[in-house]
Amino acid sequence: MHTNFVNALSADDQTALKRAPKVDLHCHAYFSARRRNLENRMGCTLEPPPAKMNKLGGMHVYATNVLDPHLRDRETIEFVVESALRDAIEDGVVVLEMSFDIRRAAYYADGLAGVRRHVEALRARYRPQIDLRPELGIPRQIAASPELMSLASQALELGLFLSIDLYDHQHACAPEEVAPLFAKAGAAGMKRKAHVGEFGGAAEIRRTVELLELDEVQHGIAAAESVEVMRWLAANRIRLNVCPTSNVMLDAVSHLAAHPIRLLHDNGVAVTINTDDPMIFDQSVTDEYRNLYRAGVFSPTELDGIRRASLAPAA
Ligand SMILES: [Zn+2]
Repeated sequence: MHTNFVNALSADDQTALKRAPKVDLHCHAYFSARRRNLENRMGCTLEPPPAKMNKLGGMHVYATNVLDPHLRDRETIEFVVESALRDAIEDGVVVLEMSFDIRRAAYYADGLAGVRRHVEALRARYRPQIDLRPELGIPRQIAASPELMSLASQALELGLFLSIDLYDHQHACAPEEVAPLFAKAGAAGMKRKAHVGEFGGAAEIRRTVELLELDEVQHGIAAAESVEVMRWLAANRIRLNVCPTSNVMLDAVSHLAAHPIRLLHDNGVAVTINTDDPMIFDQSVTDEYRNLYRAGVFSPTELDGIRRASLAPAA
């Protein structure tokens, strides 16, 4: 297997690349389907995003104008996830940690029970091919909504979610505000993750990891600004689930060849390679490996090392 993936990268053998087992540990259900699948279903074409968007604000403008109008009903929301699962299987993804936003409950008359029914049915249907590990998605705006906060707390009791992830504008909520929620998730044995350091701020990464007792960080690429923080992450075995194309398109990184994933790796920080929002960034996990090789960021052997380490459970 080792030689196969290495050779497949050098030879640009995409069939062999897809065949190699991979993980996707950073994928949001809401934007998880490729645009072409949504286009086929809708019978229309969707304007692609600009090659560069101005950070999260720019992404939200694109999503609000182009994608959101098509994602308004439960059937489409369910179609998106199922189509993403099929694509992930086809791409050789064997473990998929997909985050289901707490606001998804609003699509079901019976709220969280409906979410559970849908996700459990999917897990069962695709279990032989892929290990779908449902993740509870917490938008940072939750801090302003006691109702959503209480719903999230109930969601932790479903026994459905294996991990929890915090995301969206960092300024919307300090980690302190969700600390009780994360403590509850930890007590339930769930893996704890948060988006932090996507657009700078190495110190905030360490602070958030300590406060929320995170197991992994989504993005966290700003750690590369600080040797101390990189050393600390490495020593504490905090893994970063990086999404290279997302970082470039949202202008956290100027271009792929300059991606700090190289520096993070060289400083002993564990990294994985993931998709984030395939509906926007339009790359599979295989594409992301291939892109990093072709941009000269890593050698085939290094990429195979990252791939193999990502298949092992987090330390
Ligand atoms: Zn993300």
